[in-house]
Amino acid sequence: MTVQQDVASNLTDIRQQITAAANRAGRAPGDVTLVAISKFQPDERIEAALAAGHRVFGENRVQEAQEHWSERRETIGDLELHLVGPLQTNKVRDAVALFDVIQTLDRPKLARHLAKAFADFGATRRCFVQVNTGEEAQKAGIIPDQADKFIAECRDLELPVEGLMCIPPVDAPVAPHFALLRRIAERNGLRALSMGMSADFESAVELGATHVRVGRGIFGERANRD
Ligand SMILES: *Cc1c(COP(=O)(O)O)cnc(C)c1O
Repeated sequence: MTVQQDVASNLTDIRQQITAAANRAGRAPGDVTLVAISKFQPDERIEAALAAGHRVFGENRVQEAQEHWSERRETIGDLELHLVGPLQTNKVRDAVALFDVIQTLDRPKLARHLAKAFADFGATRRCFVQVNTGEEAQKAGIIPDQADKFIAECRDLELPVEGLMCIPPVDAPVAPHFALLRRIAERNGLRALSMGMSADFESAVELGATHVRVGRGIFGERANRD
């Protein structure tokens, strides 16, 4: 198989698995957005996904995202780009310039910087609050106990928070983390849930994910950073 056929058939398979998982849960498959995580992927695989008609992509570093997407943004009108990695405050303006969705709003300082950047740009970006459901020291995200308060602070700043995002601990069962994220969203009146990656997106869809973030399952293994 060529790279192009390989990526196209992976996309087809994953869309079918999302549809099957949604059907099992009595959900509409159209309520789940597949975010293709293109970090560390070579250009030809990104091109293959675009050729297959995919338009929603995620990246975890602002600089690499600019390399992958700044030029393509100019020519592809219907791209939708999601930031899924930690955002340093000195990169906020670059991130707001490039991305449509910031999935990693995780601390008050970042909330204030985003509010300021949105005011300066005269435009907002859709936001997800990242929750550190496993309360892991090395992982970004607001801890569950502080999530309600932080979501309220974001709303006071008029940030358009549409949902929550989490990255469960590796090697732990994911279902309790997905269920916790969903409970926090429900009690805060938030609709969107970004949860599930290549290894567990089907359970995530069964448990209510509206956005799944799939990298290797679409593009294959990436160059071995991260
Ligand atoms: C890399 C990454 C993914 C995709 O992981 P895969 O295992 O390749 O599907 C999803 N979410 C985040 C936040 C990531 O950094």
